[in-house]
Amino acid sequence: MVRKDGTEMTLAQSKQLSQLTADNARWEDRQLLRSGAVRSTEVRTEFDDEEKRKVILLVHDTKPPFLDRRVVYTKQAEPIMPIKDPTSDMAIISRKGSALVREIHEKQSKNKSRQRFWELAGSRLGDVLGVGKTEEQIDADTAAVVEDGEVNFKEDSRFSQHLKKDEDVSDFAQSKTIAEQWQYLPIYSVRDELLQVVRENQVIVVVGETGSGKTTQLTQYLHEDGYTINGIVGCTQPRRVAAMSVAKRVSEEMETELGGKVGYAIRFEDMTSCNTIIKYMTDGVLLRETLAESNLEKYCVIVMDEAHERSLSTDVLFGIMKKIVALRHDFKLIVTSATLNAEKFSNFFGSAPIFHIPGRTFPVNTLYSKTPCEDYVEAAVKQAMTIHITSPPGDILIFMTGQDEIEATCYSLAERVEQLISSTHKAVPKLLILPIYSQLPADLQAKIFEKAEDGARKCIVATNIAETSLTIDGIFYVIDTGYGKMKVYNPRMGLDALQVFPVSRAAADQRAGRAGRTGPGTCHRLYTESAYLNEMLPSPVPEIQRTNLSYVVLLLKSLKVDNLLDFDFIDPPPQENILNAMYHLWVLGALDNVGSLTDLGWKMVEFPLDPPLAKILLMGERLGCINEVVTIISMLSVPSVFFRPKDRIEESDVAHEKFFIPESDHLTLYNVYQQWEQHDHRGDWCNDHFLHVKGLQKAREVRSQLVDILKQQNIPLTSCWPDTDIVRRAICSAYFHNAARLKGVGEYVNCRNGMPCHLHPSSALYGMGCISEYVVYHELILTTKEYMQCATAVEPQWLAELGPMYFSIKR
Ligand code: ADP
Ligand code: MG
Repeated sequence: MVRKDGTEMTLAQSKQLSQLTADNARWEDRQLLRSGAVRSTEVRTEFDDEEKRKVILLVHDTKPPFLDRRVVYTKQAEPIMPIKDPTSDMAIISRKGSALVREIHEKQSKNKSRQRFWELAGSRLGDVLGVGKTEEQIDADTAAVVEDGEVNFKEDSRFSQHLKKDEDVSDFAQSKTIAEQWQYLPIYSVRDELLQVVRENQVIVVVGETGSGKTTQLTQYLHEDGYTINGIVGCTQPRRVAAMSVAKRVSEEMETELGGKVGYAIRFEDMTSCNTIIKYMTDGVLLRETLAESNLEKYCVIVMDEAHERSLSTDVLFGIMKKIVALRHDFKLIVTSATLNAEKFSNFFGSAPIFHIPGRTFPVNTLYSKTPCEDYVEAAVKQAMTIHITSPPGDILIFMTGQDEIEATCYSLAERVEQLISSTHKAVPKLLILPIYSQLPADLQAKIFEKAEDGARKCIVATNIAETSLTIDGIFYVIDTGYGKMKVYNPRMGLDALQVFPVSRAAADQRAGRAGRTGPGTCHRLYTESAYLNEMLPSPVPEIQRTNLSYVVLLLKSLKVDNLLDFDFIDPPPQENILNAMYHLWVLGALDNVGSLTDLGWKMVEFPLDPPLAKILLMGERLGCINEVVTIISMLSVPSVFFRPKDRIEESDVAHEKFFIPESDHLTLYNVYQQWEQHDHRGDWCNDHFLHVKGLQKAREVRSQLVDILKQQNIPLTSCWPDTDIVRRAICSAYFHNAARLKGVGEYVNCRNGMPCHLHPSSALYGMGCISEYVVYHELILTTKEYMQCATAVEPQWLAELGPMYFSIKR
């Protein structure tokens, strides 16, 4: 640690110093309060150490004139929550999280020989794990695995007879070649009828079970029927992983190279060329394309796939598509959906015909837990072990909420199989444990489609990505925890947070259906039948009704949708959410006093970034530090590049500290990237410094895309280095709504709403001579505490100057 004057200081000294500063600040507060000069809610003090004079930062809220006076902005609107009753068993269990996950985290950090869980999959588990346990421990653990291994299940009254899987139901996807497989898909039997309906109608809704071939076949049929002569067949996906994986599959089926005739586009990654005729893309990408070309002239057909997911971009696209359909008679729109919502889509497009693909599904025996499962991860692991040991062949699919739980489940399963082998000394069939979630590297994602070797059983542990987006054949057993992660805008904290919630009944039914694709299957629900009937919502709450709308409002404004409250939403968001978003955009300077886009607002639309990030970039232009901010934004757009292997945490932390720029985590990110560049983007250099090379490479791609847009806009790559204050000002100009003031060591409170927020233990700011009185942060993440993710020290004067709607200075 280096003091401001350049002398060295230990971490402990720096923490002590910051405590003194904090105490001092509190003393200043008390003096002021005692003097009665200001109201307590307004007082903010700062000791300006250069001029030795006191600065008082006042906090207030200014309202934009275009908003209705009746709306109270400080008490922001509650979004619609994806939960029925926050006091129900399922809601409480979801907030508590899993004890097993915590236990495994601890275990992993203690045991130095542990490998990353996916290296366990399919390998000789014993060798890899190297578990050195005593006999008693093994006995006790095995007892837990085998005897205690069953969740108490109650048969679903609707399926009184337990269906045993037909041993000889062969898995066609595993025995036939790719070229043969498509003929067996349900959609193939209705191909001609379907194409006829498409010819006769401009908009159609296609409904079919997951796996019937909608995503992979429909686009190819349209191509075969000649539509691609006039333009591209586009297909939108709510998930990036699905867009990539499906495009790859279709390019294989068509025997062409990915990125040629068949391509995909996701944000910051365009795998298409001028030859592309079938293009898979995220709905967000298509939404942005409507900005450049509002009628989507280059497309002849758009398939809006997975519409039932009701993602934010899909919902906005619905309104836009309705206009395009009215304007372009040569344009076709196909909306595909699982059974849910089909009527609603049809009605929205003026009673468009609904085409049903006949399903070929097998009965699924649904079993409920008799009592609520306190730890659903533990229960799922036990259930999977029981199935593996006692049930006939057939793969298992477990639904978890996210990466952490998936990793813990895989780890724990691998460990229990190993325990079983070493304790019983019997041949236990192989269990191929495969995780799947969006952040998993693509090559590992592809493994879930591979056939397991003979005699082995696959156990796929997935997020809700496997609910409908990806179809995996050969699943006979589904274990449904009943929970999923959902992004919900939390107005009190002003942030979108991914939180765990019980899934809806419709989602639970989708999950169960995954077991009946190849033959009759079983779904183990780790919740009670009463929870299913009484605690779960009938269908999921569309994203548009529960998230932050700033980005969408900015896009719609640029599409000249002046009165957002009149936009044709299939399900309108709460009015206050729209007004809040407009307020935020006004605060950032993207909207003017009458609610129209400002010059800055128009420029912000050009970048596929959240409004505050776009603002940093444009402030960088104004202040002359584009080069620095574009790197910072790219690094913020990828998952953390800091690698902290559980068995080498201290070592990696020391390595990371070398990159610290003490006044800013943002600048630290810049420093990491800069040094990586100076070391020729070398992978071994990353390994030596505990950095994820893939993350850095991704950041480099994002950066180059942003630089391309900057070039198109004639914005030069200016640099202010080594004057870091300029960069911090640019960050402050876009994140002053996330300003926090020091309260104790590493402890801050949000200046405006008083929310406690903590400096993350890995923050570079601990290295400052004294911890800054004021910081702005990128976002708040909720784990054990509310942690500020990526914080930068700012001066109170900057807050007043750059965020005058909230702050002013009293001297
Ligand atoms: P739907 O969209 O109706 O749910 P899909 O078109 O996604 O159906 O899937 C049709 C078939 O193609 C399924 O049997 C599925 O297993 C197979 N499939 C889809 N994607 C892949 C992939 N990436 N790799 C291997 N098989 C795949
Ligand atoms: Mg599909």
